[in-house]
Amino acid sequence: MKPSFHHRLVNAPHEDPCLYVRIVREKRSFLFDAGQLDRLGSADLMKISDVFVTHTHIDHFIGFDTLLRALLRRDTPLRVYGPENIIECVAGKLRGYTWNLIEEYPIEIDVFSFTEKEIRHSSFSAATRFKRIDRSIRPFDTIVLKEPPFTIKAINLSHGTPCLGFSLEEDFHINIDKAALNRMGLPVGPWLGDLKRMIRGTAAPDTPLTIDGRIFKFSDLVAIAKTTDGQKVSYITDISPEEENIVKVTDFVNGSDTLYCEAYFLNEDIERALERHHLTAKIAGGIARKANVKNLVVMHFSPKYRSFPGVIEKEAMEKFKQDL
Ligand SMILES: [Zn+2]
Ligand SMILES: [Zn+2]
Repeated sequence: MKPSFHHRLVNAPHEDPCLYVRIVREKRSFLFDAGQLDRLGSADLMKISDVFVTHTHIDHFIGFDTLLRALLRRDTPLRVYGPENIIECVAGKLRGYTWNLIEEYPIEIDVFSFTEKEIRHSSFSAATRFKRIDRSIRPFDTIVLKEPPFTIKAINLSHGTPCLGFSLEEDFHINIDKAALNRMGLPVGPWLGDLKRMIRGTAAPDTPLTIDGRIFKFSDLVAIAKTTDGQKVSYITDISPEEENIVKVTDFVNGSDTLYCEAYFLNEDIERALERHHLTAKIAGGIARKANVKNLVVMHFSPKYRSFPGVIEKEAMEKFKQDL
């Protein structure tokens, strides 16, 4: 199965956690958290359409400036999603600079804040020197963004401050059956993208599709495509090791192909983990195991373990693979 998106951490696990998700065959990427972004080149930054911010502690939001600078001349908007104070935090960042020469620039920033029940939307545009405009308030029920083929969901968690967890799910995956293509004497080409869009949009059976000058009906072509479950990737960081958080997260990340999860402390430092509102490696491993996650990637390690390479991964993986 060819994946529809590729995902990778931007930084090493002792550094700021940031997940970069590149959408295959589109000049578009998603970013989960915006800590230090210096490792992303301008081509990577320019592709970012949507940024999902768990919370605005400095190690998760300092890179917003890097992103803003890279996108000032871009004519497609940047969308930012985050916890209840995200609009104030973006407004505060924008207030930190002088913008008297910016009106000609095209960039617009749409910001969405999520509480347990509400989504608030505000926007900032270079044309008005980033004056805040409040757009709407509507009900929130886990779905942050739904743009076929992707659904991004958020969950409200606690980290001494509200903190969001995110999941990215592909609605379903479409695989092209090359043998069926050959049997029908059809070439590989951009029309396969059109066919996939027709499947996702549930086109009418007699919808025409032209391939190499020949006209086919949608219903004649559907046998070429086989649908399977889509990928699910989850991103959880900076949450208190409390039962309520753990139960909510376990349910939320259930069945993920990959779970990116913080493992800030070793379990021997559980008292410190409780004080600092962070998970331990053992708890991260336990969540992944209970949630039937296929692949666990631990990240966001406390600097105190820098001189003990591998200890955090070992503790997390031992718990994750237990009983297998
Ligand atoms: Zn953090
Ligand atoms: Zn934090």
